[in-house]
Amino acid sequence: MTDTIFAPATAAGRSAVAVVRLSGPGAGAAVKALAGKLPRPREATLRVLRDGQGRAIDQALVLWFEGPSSYTGEDAAEFHVHGGPAVVAGLLEALADLRLRLAEPGEFTRRAFENGKLDLAQAEGVADLIEAETEAQRRQALDQLGGALGQAQTRWREGLIEALAMFEAAVDFPDEEVPADVAARARPVLASLIGELEHAVADVKRGERVREGFRIALVGAPNAGKSTILNALAGREAAIVTATPGTTRDVIEVPMRLAGYKALLADTAGLRDTRDEIEAEGVRRARAWANDADLRIWVVDGASDAAATVPTLHPHDLCLINKADLVQGAETGHALVEARALNVEVIRLSAWKPDDISALLMALEHRVVDALAGAELPTATRLRHRELLSEALERLNRALLLEDDLELAAEDVRLAGRALDRITGRIDPEDVLDRVFSSFCIGK
Ligand code: GDP
Repeated sequence: MTDTIFAPATAAGRSAVAVVRLSGPGAGAAVKALAGKLPRPREATLRVLRDGQGRAIDQALVLWFEGPSSYTGEDAAEFHVHGGPAVVAGLLEALADLRLRLAEPGEFTRRAFENGKLDLAQAEGVADLIEAETEAQRRQALDQLGGALGQAQTRWREGLIEALAMFEAAVDFPDEEVPADVAARARPVLASLIGELEHAVADVKRGERVREGFRIALVGAPNAGKSTILNALAGREAAIVTATPGTTRDVIEVPMRLAGYKALLADTAGLRDTRDEIEAEGVRRARAWANDADLRIWVVDGASDAAATVPTLHPHDLCLINKADLVQGAETGHALVEARALNVEVIRLSAWKPDDISALLMALEHRVVDALAGAELPTATRLRHRELLSEALERLNRALLLEDDLELAAEDVRLAGRALDRITGRIDPEDVLDRVFSSFCIGK
């Protein structure tokens, strides 16, 4: 039998109100023990909570949810108490005295999943919503909590079952009742499904970036002004600025909000050859981070750029020619020529000028919006989804190639379905047979 769990639902510390929840078969008895008789379900009721010795703990609003009409699907309750640490501690102690167990992280949502209240992707949506710091993260998480991925999965699954039904019919009933070209008819169904999955896989990256942050790497030679630019952009002293080259020895990531999206800005160790082992490791990590980043900003000291090593850049990257305050006159220079040859946008600025930093911020916001905003929210949003979608795609592509062996093709389609089912945590093989019989009228 499942046990009854409890936990504070609000953060520790002082607050106007704190919420403690319970869930499980013993929830009703616990409410009675603490608050007298059970309140009417789903109605906020003011009660004095008392511990085992009859001493008052607090006056609280009590909410009682009779299973299965609750978040977890079990009997559940909430106590809304005054948010002082001693009140919450007293209530938790009284619940522990009733032999209820403190919940593990995520255990309420896990029970909701196990009781069919949420699918796995929706449960992930709950976690993302709690983590959301930006508008874009919130919208994406809410969409996932609303079951967007589950709905897409249901649609993909229908195509898959249709194809599988055709394959299986051709294998199991190779007589005149089944059209001879049935397997051939499965191909366009598979091909269109593959197209949809490819689209979803291509879009996962966007979802992951919205969740985790758009990664921007500042790269360039020591002393070009990377730390100064990072601090100016982040609006605080996040990196150590010094006049000695080679002081930034590791990758420093600073979370920022850009146009409603989360971004991670990293100051990377100056790119130069060095004998210092620790610095060399810093340079290696900097290169790896920069290669993986969504945007690289090559920072160049405009006053002395003759020796600037050109980093690996991509067409949408940026080149900042810094220290414009020290340089007068025409735009000539080694870095400018290199950047133009790479077709990279060049911005001349001084990291010390607030107006220049504002203009740079706007340029960055445009890039984030271009990369992450779309007409639709991405359906899949994390590595787990990407891996399962890729596995399903691989299986379906193989099935498409197995012209002569319909049994093997059917098996691949089945395994693709299993991969998709794992996205929402659902496995349901009965559907396949249902489809075979309903669409081909076999065995009537
Ligand atoms: P990093 O090694 O690339 O991170 O470079 P820092 O940010 O530590 O800057 C190196 C030096 O250049 C520091 O002394 C900064 O104060 C100076 N510096 C940064 N930006 C500017 C600028 O726009 N103009 C001038 N004149 N000096 C700058």
